[in-house]
Amino acid sequence: MISYEVTEWGMPLQQAIRETPQPKGSEVLVRVKYCGVCHSDVHIRDGYFDLGGGKKFHMSQRGMRLPVTLGHEPYGEVLSAGPEANDVPLGEDRLVYPWTGCGSCARCNEGMDNWCPTPRYIGIQRSGGYGDHILVPHPKYLVDARGIDPSYAPILACSGLTTYSAVRKLLPCKPSDWIVVMGAGGLGLMAIAMLKALGHEQIAVCEIQRSKWDAAIEAGSSLCIDPLDATALEQLQALSGGVWGVVDLVGADNTASLAIAALRKGGRYVLVGLYGGELSLSLVPLAQRAMTIQGSYVGSLQELREVVELARSGKLKPIPTAVCSMQEVSGVLDQLKAGTVLGRVVAKVE
Ligand SMILES: [Zn+2]
Ligand SMILES: [Zn+2]
Repeated sequence: MISYEVTEWGMPLQQAIRETPQPKGSEVLVRVKYCGVCHSDVHIRDGYFDLGGGKKFHMSQRGMRLPVTLGHEPYGEVLSAGPEANDVPLGEDRLVYPWTGCGSCARCNEGMDNWCPTPRYIGIQRSGGYGDHILVPHPKYLVDARGIDPSYAPILACSGLTTYSAVRKLLPCKPSDWIVVMGAGGLGLMAIAMLKALGHEQIAVCEIQRSKWDAAIEAGSSLCIDPLDATALEQLQALSGGVWGVVDLVGADNTASLAIAALRKGGRYVLVGLYGGELSLSLVPLAQRAMTIQGSYVGSLQELREVVELARSGKLKPIPTAVCSMQEVSGVLDQLKAGTVLGRVVAKVE
């Protein structure tokens, strides 16, 4: 099999020829047809996340050893399975749930693999979809996405699932309560589309690149604000009824500070983006303003099934998606780092 691997942190992916793995136990072998290219792979390829204040979290601390094959939005044909795998849809195409845990802890047993304390995610600790074959630890992680364009379905496994799980932490609220989306990159556009799909109406976007505003409006935002504008906070605070919730797909010092300052009393801030930084917070106003600050990281297998259902029903409007070849993934990661990608890119295996 061919894979595109990180062989040195921070360097371009390298093509490698490897032996195609054979499924053992409950494992399933999938021939990858498409794999979404996610912004978090930019950080993972660099080998660290910025914790702010000069501190870094290195991927090697998370059990990653080089070389690794990234790619956590795989989609493809189920080829074969180990002797303990039951109900395997051989020959059919499936979307792969990548946020697999250890398989034996309390969180994994309750279907919250994404909260497993010793994660074994596909495309992070396990070999991912920037290659033509992957092993999935169990057939339960194969999600039937028939009826959805296969060049679009992959992005549901990370950007779709992540935004669904995040915006649901702001719901239920009145459809007319203002929800602010920080960032109109691929995740931001998906968050807007997800809010619309779930019946929400009043959405504002904070995005520094005005070239992304049209796509945000197209996705369903009714207002775009430049967060670097000196009046940005004033504009947010002036929204009628105040800001009920913010979903931050950037996750930098300045987006977090602006978001928290903009919230009305009782409001909620949900942090998703992994840009990095730190926050200094006065405790008294946190209590007095009765705010909630919550993190959100990907989502559960059940939530992915719900996202696929939303997409299949047509309620979830697709965001702009381009297709590239597997050889081009490393260049796409460079473009994502530079912020020049509109929407999402999905790599196709030729
Ligand atoms: Zn991702
Ligand atoms: Zn576990």
